[in-house]
Amino acid sequence: MSASPVPETIPRPAASSDFSIHNIPFGIFSTNSDPRLRACTAYGDYVIDLQVMHNLAFFKELDFPVDVFSQSTLNDFIALGKEKTSAVRRRIQELLKDERAFGLFFNYCAVPMEEANLHLPIFIRDYTDFYSSIEHATNVGSLFRDPKNALLPNWKRMPIGYHGRSSSIVVSGTPIKRPYGQSRPLEEGGEPQFGPSKLLDFELEMGFVIGKATKLGQRIPIAQAEDYIFGMVLFNDWSARDIQAWEYVPLGPFLGKNFASTMSPWIVTMEALEPFRVDGPVQEPAVLPYLQFSGRKNYDIHLEVIIKTDDFKATVCNSNFKYMYWNMPQQLAHHTINGCNVNIGDLYASGTISGKTKTSYGSMLELSWRGSQPLPMPDGSERKFIHDGDTVIMHGYAEKDGIRVGFGEASGKILAADPMA
Ligand code: MN
Repeated sequence: MSASPVPETIPRPAASSDFSIHNIPFGIFSTNSDPRLRACTAYGDYVIDLQVMHNLAFFKELDFPVDVFSQSTLNDFIALGKEKTSAVRRRIQELLKDERAFGLFFNYCAVPMEEANLHLPIFIRDYTDFYSSIEHATNVGSLFRDPKNALLPNWKRMPIGYHGRSSSIVVSGTPIKRPYGQSRPLEEGGEPQFGPSKLLDFELEMGFVIGKATKLGQRIPIAQAEDYIFGMVLFNDWSARDIQAWEYVPLGPFLGKNFASTMSPWIVTMEALEPFRVDGPVQEPAVLPYLQFSGRKNYDIHLEVIIKTDDFKATVCNSNFKYMYWNMPQQLAHHTINGCNVNIGDLYASGTISGKTKTSYGSMLELSWRGSQPLPMPDGSERKFIHDGDTVIMHGYAEKDGIRVGFGEASGKILAADPMA
């Protein structure tokens, strides 16, 4: 005897949705009618309140504290460990597939995406930015230094990075003010220029979030590095190229970078990205033993950058996370080889992700070749760098065999600089 039919009450995501049943990312949201920050997932065009699901006892077999979803960040949830967080994700998937168990409750838990205010999903303890795309490092080395020796001798020996500023990382949708700063004197030996940056740029990056802490002095062996990675986000490492060029010797990036970075609101878990593993570029010369790995450690994730104004929307870059020369386990093994500790909520950004072709370059610096080849825009204007009023939008998604897992967007509008008093 067949079961009696159950009316479909769970709205199913469109095939083009970033938030399919295969994704189930984690985020933090509030609504205008209920401004408390709380944990959520995304399914199609809906945000699902995990605190309400927990209150309705949908996670009771999983046995974890009831207040873990009523926090303003996901740090406590992530701290439960991968075994628990994966079980929560699988449970949500089961329920969303099961009209009988969850259909009548969907409306209690779901909020239309357009009614949700999305917040920074984690408290970011520390933030490191790598420089792991060989095409980007080669392009920047050619533009800033010497095309014949674009890559410095250390570049193929270890993942190069620097420590950035975590407290100026903002969630997608937050407007960014054009920074003021010093830049190179017009004549050698002259006074530096000073004013709003004239060469404001984006950097197309992805970031990974640490899900397990180490103690100071402890290394993460490369074979265990994936256990420490909770999930990934889109990341725009805003960069003022004129400030950067004047300041970066001798100690590296500083005020040209730390005024703001934009992060997407959804953390996509490594479990959701599992079907999209691919091999990375061949590393030659061979790396030191602590950086040697086996298996597929890159991910096939399409990335796109759009410049949007009141008048037009133009795609300026199509790239892919799979181009990364150094993979995430190598970055983490290298970061901790000296005993540097990692903490839950630390963010590690990839560095600008450029491919081999000109349309895959992940910054305006490269796309306009430092302003020498401006990009034509649909309204007849052109862009060498980013103008006031431009919104830069980054998208990312992986798709294979009918399975789609996307990241939503990392978007930020550039506002005119505050004038000096
Ligand atoms: Mn960067």
